[in-house]
Amino acid sequence: MATVDGLPPLREVIERHGLVAKKSLGQNFLLDLNLTSKIARQAGDLSHCDVLEVGPGPGGLTRGLLAEGARKVLAVEKDSRAMAALAEISETYPGKLEVLNADALEIDPLERLTPPVRIVANLPYNVGTELLVRWLTPDAWPPYWSSLTLMFQREVAERIVAEPGSKKYGRLAILSQWRTTPRIVMELPPEAFSPPPKIHSAVVHFEALPAPRFEADPKVLERIVAAGFNQRRKMLRASLKGIAPEIEDHLLAAGIKPTDRAEQISVEGWCALARELATV
Ligand code: SAM
Repeated sequence: MATVDGLPPLREVIERHGLVAKKSLGQNFLLDLNLTSKIARQAGDLSHCDVLEVGPGPGGLTRGLLAEGARKVLAVEKDSRAMAALAEISETYPGKLEVLNADALEIDPLERLTPPVRIVANLPYNVGTELLVRWLTPDAWPPYWSSLTLMFQREVAERIVAEPGSKKYGRLAILSQWRTTPRIVMELPPEAFSPPPKIHSAVVHFEALPAPRFEADPKVLERIVAAGFNQRRKMLRASLKGIAPEIEDHLLAAGIKPTDRAEQISVEGWCALARELATV
């Protein structure tokens, strides 16, 4: 059956190139090109942007991004078995797709990209969370990318957009909401993937803010948030005891009650505490 881009259907591509899904690489492929184009559209207008795609696999989402008019796609894939399938896509879109056979955790793709850059990925969940935290915590802001459109386990997506006071509110919510506006833009059932994972998934779109919502040093913020939520049931005067002597005084100076727990503190409160502790 013909597809919109004239390339073979993904099921056929996977079969022809022997891309049997590997669990060790978190491979759950999207096979429906209507769905991958829909995900690509969540990233916004791509016509004036370079797109960094991490983990293209057989290229379903890559084809969606190119069909939606991306100026250029740089696709970084660890699995060398996918290279031949991705090369066929390059031939269909001459000069538009560059493929790097590399581990996304070990490379810096910046020199191959021209701003504005949008990042789009359907990644294994552990790699996705690690890259998200790296993308959110450079020392300088704004970053080189203007938006992230990422697939997560639905439960992780809910943690990213969670509000203070909720059981799901924690490190991911604070780091995400501090410097971006994250929104869940799509939910996908297990059957959307092949093989189907056990969990539901969701796409989160993050627009980078021109400046962080509140001033704070990212390293200090990460450290105190990690300490606070590692012992989320404890009062902050106990969970943050190891951060600085006289922690109660610092909490009070930042306008926080020492008897509060981590999940009760807003992003603004955490940033105030990071500023208070910046010189300690
Ligand atoms: N984007 C494709 C899709 O939507 O059908 C594949 C998604 S699959 C969930 C995740 C992809 O990420 C796989 O192709 C896997 O090989 C790749 N991958 C896993 N770890 C990676 C890493 N560290 N760097 C780059 N790619 C990685």
